[in-house]
Amino acid sequence: MDAARLKAARGGFMYYLPNGVLQVRTECPNPSCKSHFATAPNVKRSATPYYATRSGEPVEARKFAKCRHRNSCGYDVRPTRADVDAHLSGAGVEVKPPDWTPPPPKPQRVFGELLPGSIGSTAFDNYGMERYGGRWQRVAFSYHVVSHGGANVFQYADAQRRVHIAKTIRYRIDNAGRLTKKNEKGEAQVFQPAIDKDKTEWILFGAHLVTAGARVAVAESEDAALSMAAAYPDDARVWCASGGDNLRKFREYMQEQPGVEFELFPDLDRINADAENNWYEQAEYLRAHGVACAVNEWWTLDGIRQHISRLGGKGDLRDWLDAVSR
Ligand SMILES: [Zn+2]
Repeated sequence: MDAARLKAARGGFMYYLPNGVLQVRTECPNPSCKSHFATAPNVKRSATPYYATRSGEPVEARKFAKCRHRNSCGYDVRPTRADVDAHLSGAGVEVKPPDWTPPPPKPQRVFGELLPGSIGSTAFDNYGMERYGGRWQRVAFSYHVVSHGGANVFQYADAQRRVHIAKTIRYRIDNAGRLTKKNEKGEAQVFQPAIDKDKTEWILFGAHLVTAGARVAVAESEDAALSMAAAYPDDARVWCASGGDNLRKFREYMQEQPGVEFELFPDLDRINADAENNWYEQAEYLRAHGVACAVNEWWTLDGIRQHISRLGGKGDLRDWLDAVSR
């Protein structure tokens, strides 16, 4: 008997959800669930059926199930005692088209609409304008980067242009002439509107530019994503950033983007990272869950490899761009 069923039996529950096993997923009974418009079969199967504790079988998978798309769908219909009894007696459950009405929308954990971008005279603004001029301006405006009081504000907004996270970074030019994040305080400041910060809906920086079926490149830092977008304006990829090494918190977001292909561009010091922050492992997890996702081994490309030794095993795409433009 599997652990979830055993636990349900001990607790006296008449039904249970099997634990995160891919193969027990089924199509969501809600006909308007966005999983039905997905291309990958594993994404289509977005619901987990409720199992009867006594039989270890789904009560009726086409009706009693819970959809994984908590925010966009929220389908969750549980069997009654009569439903479970009918299933156990072999009578089956009469399956009607689900009369599912989505729960009322949760209070929005967002700041509101994207503020327009602006360019001032921070170290970051100067860095970009010197290197990329008008192209930098276009990129900074399309990503809505705000120059404010010596710092730059990076707004993490979704496709509906609602801001989930705002991150303020003070940059400076170090003694070697490099753009660096570390200021006297050392850290970037992250602002989240959520009262309960654990419930922040994490989305990638640049998500407001992502459309269905897009090719999305994911860099770690915001400045690397912006630099790549400015350096290669004709590239078909949408450059996004995770804002750090933790890719796990974006899993739900990445699983919910229909037809999007993700290419991961980890920083050099992440390549041999431990499991938790290893982007190869994250890519594998995402693929197993129906997301088109691969690590781009950019550091092995001709023209990049020879600069890697100069970067001393650390650095990201922006360091490489700086190295070649020097
Ligand atoms: Zn659904």
